[in-house]
Amino acid sequence: MTLPSLKDSIQQHGLDAKKALGQHFLLDPGLCARIAALGGDLTGRSVVEIGPGPGGLTRALINTPADRIDAVEIDERAWPLLDELAGYANGRLHIVRQDALTLDAASLGPAPRQIVANLPYNVATPLLIGWLRQAASWERMALMFQFEVAERICAAPGTSAYGRLAVLAQWCAQCSIALKIPPGAFSPPPKVHSAVAVIIPHAEQPEPSLFKAMERVTAAAFGQRRKMLRSSLKSIGGEKLLSQAEIEPTRRAETLSIAEFARLATLHHADR
Ligand code: SAM
Repeated sequence: MTLPSLKDSIQQHGLDAKKALGQHFLLDPGLCARIAALGGDLTGRSVVEIGPGPGGLTRALINTPADRIDAVEIDERAWPLLDELAGYANGRLHIVRQDALTLDAASLGPAPRQIVANLPYNVATPLLIGWLRQAASWERMALMFQFEVAERICAAPGTSAYGRLAVLAQWCAQCSIALKIPPGAFSPPPKVHSAVAVIIPHAEQPEPSLFKAMERVTAAAFGQRRKMLRSSLKSIGGEKLLSQAEIEPTRRAETLSIAEFARLATLHHADR
């Protein structure tokens, strides 16, 4: 038995792209293989793919030495096609029929896992923040985002893209943009450029309550990013916190390094 081509498979199953589900499909096997390779050495690993859709990237993941691939798809129209694909994967491809936003980790292979995904852009940021909250469960992520979002994840202090997402992501992980992809690579093409970010969680991770403290600090600091920190951090004890952290109260959020945010989060955490 040979696997039908991706295009034939999409046609046979009548899977036209739905805008509401952020569906922009990758049909080029070469590009899918490059994205799968950004997942690093998958030998014996458990990989999660969010939103396999018609399975272009899933096919590339099946061709890696990964032990297990959990493909999490919300669109029931894609399930029969994915079930068919699973028939060619020697039991290594598991179709998880769930919303990735409320994904139950018990349905996945053993941690630490990798994530490789061409994410649905409408839920990409909440998905990433959810994974960062549990960063110890993940060994590496290779994730396609809208280009501006990838820039915000990897931004350096002092730049306009630097904000809450950069601090949360870079506090927990090493982040870099590995591949920029033009709209024409997708069917249908989105209006924006895309990029794959590689996110490698640090060996040491903050405990959940400290992560929550960092979420509060960054929400306050960047919620009013043009204001001085003594004013934007008022609701969480601004002046005292800044003096304990030895940070000038007249500075603005975008000038603070990740290490300075880490000091603020640790002190705010200890204060509660
Ligand atoms: N991986 C495919 C590819 O590269 O061609 C499709 C990528 S498409 C950008 C995003 C996929 O995520 C779609 O298949 C869509 O149905 C799925 N999706 C959207 N929201 C989802 C959610 N909340 N949970 C799981 N899958 C979702």
